[in-house]
Amino acid sequence: MSSKKKKNNIFHSFAFRLTLRYAGIFSIFLILIFTVSYNSLVSGLQHNVDNGLLAEIKEIEQDFNKEGIDQVVLDIHEEIEGIGNGMIFCRLLTSDLKVEAVSDLSRWGYLDIPVLDLWAKKSLSGQTVFRTIPASDKRFKVRIITRSIAGGKYVVQIGQIMEDTEEIARHYRKVFGGAVFLLFVCGIVLAWMVANKAMSGVQRVTHTARNIGREGFHHRVQPGKEGEEIEELAETFNTMLDRVELLMQELKDVTNNLAHDLRTPITRMRGMAETTLNNKQDISNYQEVVGVIVEECDRLVRMINTILEIAQADAGLKTFSQKPVDLTTVVQKGVETFLPVAQDKKIQIDLQCPSDSVMVLGDVSRLQRVISNLLDNAIKFTDPKGKVSVELNTDGTDAVISVKDTGIGIASDQQQHIFEKFYRAESSRTAPGHGLGLSFVKAIISSMDGSVTVDSVPGHGATFVIRIPLKSC
Ligand code: ADP
Repeated sequence: MSSKKKKNNIFHSFAFRLTLRYAGIFSIFLILIFTVSYNSLVSGLQHNVDNGLLAEIKEIEQDFNKEGIDQVVLDIHEEIEGIGNGMIFCRLLTSDLKVEAVSDLSRWGYLDIPVLDLWAKKSLSGQTVFRTIPASDKRFKVRIITRSIAGGKYVVQIGQIMEDTEEIARHYRKVFGGAVFLLFVCGIVLAWMVANKAMSGVQRVTHTARNIGREGFHHRVQPGKEGEEIEELAETFNTMLDRVELLMQELKDVTNNLAHDLRTPITRMRGMAETTLNNKQDISNYQEVVGVIVEECDRLVRMINTILEIAQADAGLKTFSQKPVDLTTVVQKGVETFLPVAQDKKIQIDLQCPSDSVMVLGDVSRLQRVISNLLDNAIKFTDPKGKVSVELNTDGTDAVISVKDTGIGIASDQQQHIFEKFYRAESSRTAPGHGLGLSFVKAIISSMDGSVTVDSVPGHGATFVIRIPLKSC
């Protein structure tokens, strides 16, 4: 209940978290850009004001050099009248800080004269002192320059309200702040849309997984246009579903076939035992029935062991040994074992193999069973007077074993199925067998990184070819 609630909560969604992170990073960048550009604008404007004030003082100094102090006093008053008493003030002090001339300070009541004097004193050492103080109404700031002239005989101090500068900065704050807010909102909306679009692919996968849970394995993730990564995820998920569906089907088939193959001999054994029990028999009859039951049990155990071995090999479990094996010996021994059976059926067996050993890495007893299965099938599905040819060769990288017969052959539509567990072609249902021999061959050879193929024309025999990588042992 709580997990479902959590799932529907938008604040727990990945898209929301992604948007939040994006918004965080985006706003940091915007604030950074705004701060840097605002500071550089303000310092640029202040620089202009400073240059203006410095030019004023230099002009005053020139006038002093040319026409003396009286002209400077006149200049100061003229300048103030021109600009306006509320906008600019000026003080001319002697080197011992006595006021020589000063503009009307009635509207500059907030100025701290001792502090102004302190800056004037400082300027006597030759440096130009720039200071900024807030104006009385706090709306604007006042920029004050203090500099000595005439070789340190006088000090000129000019203060100017930075109205224009403040206006421009205020306007900039308004416009840029609005733009930043707009960009921020657009960015968030865009990030939310992008995150949702990206997540829609993941949601399709989740949706499919949910449908599979409810209705079965036939559902697949539908293709979309979210981009390569999501498409790859969907494709991989679908491939995995194909594989799981195939495995489930195989499991079902194996279970059905196994149940069927176990039921028949067990029913037969029970019938034999029941009949023997119900009728009085002599000891030899009992022995005969028990002998048949033991044989049947051995056959069943062999079948179950084969199924387990195929499953282990298919699962890639290396439970069997990986030792150097000489295939020449294995093939020769296999043919020798089947010679009596072939002779009984008047079938000729030809063997061609190199005089040298052909070494591969594997389990000798399982390789013997691989060869036995192929020879058993070749003899089983070949009519008397037929022929079975066995060849062992190498082609530089692989050992190649071929088992060719002149038997009934395999229809082309059945050739792809004969390596499946329990599969038996229509034409061979009457022959003994469980349909596990070729599955065993394929599982063992595949686990050795080899391959097995079949080539057959119905009525004209079949050729099985096994390739196993040669190992330098
Ligand atoms: P089994 O021989 O026990 O039935 P296999 O797995 O060895 O099981 O073979 C599967 C099926 O492949 C056989 O039932 C038969 O139909 C077909 N098959 C295998 N080998 C041959 C062959 N040499 N000639 C014709 N059919 C064959």
